Amino acid sequence: MLSFLDWGSSFRSKKVSSKDQNDNAGWPPSFPQSQLTLLLGTAPARERLRSLLLERQQLQLAIRLPESESVDDWIVLHCIDFLNLLNLLYGMVYVHACTPNTCPRMTAGPAYEFLWQRSDKRTMERLPASKYIELVLSWAEEELRRLMAGSANRKSCHKLAQRFHRIFAHLYHHHLADLLDMDAIAHLNTSYLHFYFFIKEFDLVGSKELEPMRALTECLLA
Ligand SMILES: [Zn+2]
Repeated sequence: MLSFLDWGSSFRSKKVSSKDQNDNAGWPPSFPQSQLTLLLGTAPARERLRSLLLERQQLQLAIRLPESESVDDWIVLHCIDFLNLLNLLYGMVYVHACTPNTCPRMTAGPAYEFLWQRSDKRTMERLPASKYIELVLSWAEEELRRLMAGSANRKSCHKLAQRFHRIFAHLYHHHLADLLDMDAIAHLNTSYLHFYFFIKEFDLVGSKELEPMRALTECLLA
């Protein structure tokens, strides 16, 4: 079995070097490789990834609706928790690792790109990941403030959950090595699986949106 260090170094050695990335520079930028797909390609790394996780049963219990609570309020309270978690996790890569240069598109590996819906709700905009995520985090704060003020709306909760899921997908596909360097994978895994149980329990994100994280979810739940 590989040690944690072996796992990290063998995984990192497969990353595209900055020179390779510069050689491929141009517009539109090519879709970047997925660090997650590389990692899930080896059995010891999958095993190690799975081990960096708190007890699954505790996470499943944590999202269950208490009898006294309304389901809408319960969902909003959890969304506030997940917003705080994502602010923390994304804050770890924001300034140095996730820049318009390193992540010129909001992607989850080479197969998925997420476009920002403009305020007119009719047009979509391609943005660097950092800009997209900044907009999601500030929009989510406003939206949650509005929901806390009493206008709880399940449709808003679906949109919050969908956009939060995209941030997790970007972090896993493009910043695993950065978070590995910061010793933050256990926190990332635990946060994601907690979030995953939550969105499944309340059916907040459709299966098509979950697709970029399917292999990871299967690995963590194995
Ligand atoms: Zn990024």
